[in-house]
Amino acid sequence: MSKHSAVNLVRPSVRRLQAYIPGEQPGRGRLTKLNTNENPYPPSPKALDAIREATDEGLRLYPNPTAEKLRRSLARKHGCDPEQILVGNGSDELLAVCIRACVEPFRSVSPSRLYAATVQYFDPSYSLYPVLADAHGARRHAVPLERDFSLPVLGSKGSSPSASPWNTRAALSLITTPNAPSGRSYPTTKLRRFCRGTEGVVVLDEAYADFASENALNLAFELPNVIVLRTFSKAYSLSSQRIGYAVGNAELLAELMKVRDSYSVNELGQVAALAALSDRRYYREVIKEIRVSREVLTHHLAELGFRVIPSETNFLLVEPPGFSAERWFEKLREQRVLVRWFNSRRVRRYLRITIGTDEEIAELLSAVERILAK
Ligand code: PMP
Repeated sequence: MSKHSAVNLVRPSVRRLQAYIPGEQPGRGRLTKLNTNENPYPPSPKALDAIREATDEGLRLYPNPTAEKLRRSLARKHGCDPEQILVGNGSDELLAVCIRACVEPFRSVSPSRLYAATVQYFDPSYSLYPVLADAHGARRHAVPLERDFSLPVLGSKGSSPSASPWNTRAALSLITTPNAPSGRSYPTTKLRRFCRGTEGVVVLDEAYADFASENALNLAFELPNVIVLRTFSKAYSLSSQRIGYAVGNAELLAELMKVRDSYSVNELGQVAALAALSDRRYYREVIKEIRVSREVLTHHLAELGFRVIPSETNFLLVEPPGFSAERWFEKLREQRVLVRWFNSRRVRRYLRITIGTDEEIAELLSAVERILAK
C-alpha cells in the first residue's frame, strides 16, 4: 500500500475533523506562561507527598476502576452518596462520555428526531465541545451568548436576529459556568431556568467554579437531568494528574459509567486528588491569592487602556488597545510572555490571560508597558 493511501482507511468524517488545538506547552521556565489557565501555585505539599509515597512497585497494578476512595471523599465534601459522583480522566473525558452516552450519531436519526443527535452549547464557550460533537458524528448547535457574554433569555433569539435560539429538546446541552473564555459567571436562578426548560441532559461545566462567588452544584441534586462537572486541574493545581468528576443523578451516572474506559483514572492521580481534598486550608489560601491578583491585574490593565471583562475565574478576557489582539499576542510572545488568542469570530478581538504569580503579573505588565512605549 502506498504511504498516501493509509489515510483513506480512516472514516471520512474523521478525516474532515478539525482537531482541538490545545494551548502551547513550552519547556519549563522558558516563557512566562499565562496561556492555559493552570494554577500558578504548586499543589498542596500533602498531594505531592501522597504521589511520592505511592510511587513504588504497586504501580504494576491497575488502579481502582471507580476511584472509590476519592469518590467517597468527594461525596462527603458535597454531602451526597458516592453513587452521585463519577470520576474521570479530567473533565474532558467526562464530556466525551456524556456525548457518547446521551447523543445519537446524526446519521442514525430520522429528520423528525434531529434533537436526539444534537449537542448544544453557547458561543463562545469551551472550544472542545464542537470537536467532541464532530468526533461522535453528532449535530452541533451553537447558541450565541449576548454581546456582553451574558446568557440570552430562554426562548428569545438573542442579540442577533439570525441566531438560532436554545433548543429545549437537545439531547445534550453543555454550559460553561463561569464561562470560558469570557470569565463571566451566571446566576444560579438563570441556569435553573435553562436546566428546567430543557428536556435532555444539561451539563454545567464548572471547571472554574472554585474561583467564583457562586456555583450551581445544587442543581445536580435538584434536577435529574443536570450533571455538574468539576476538575482538579485548576483550583487544585493538578492539571497533569488528569482528574475531573461529575456530580449528578445516580442512575444517570451509572449509565455513563458503561461507556467510559475502566482504568481511565490513574492511581497517582487518585491519591493526589484524595490528599488535596484533605488540605482545604492550603487551597483556601491559594484561591484567595488568585482572586486578589485577579482584581489587581484587572485594575492595572484597565489603567493601561485594556477593556477587561469582569472575571469570576483564574483568567481575564481583555480587549487590548491600539492594534489587533493577534498582533498583541505576537508582540507579547516576542517579550517572552505567552497568553492565548483564539481565532474565532466572537473573541478574535480579545486576549485571554491566566492569572499568574505576582512575579508573572509584573513580567506581563512590564512587557505591556514596553510594547505601548514603542
Ligand atoms: N472545561 C473547561 C471550560 C475548561 O476550560 C477545561 C480546561 N481546558 C476543561 C473543562 C477540562 O479540564 P480537565 O483538565 O479537567 O480535563
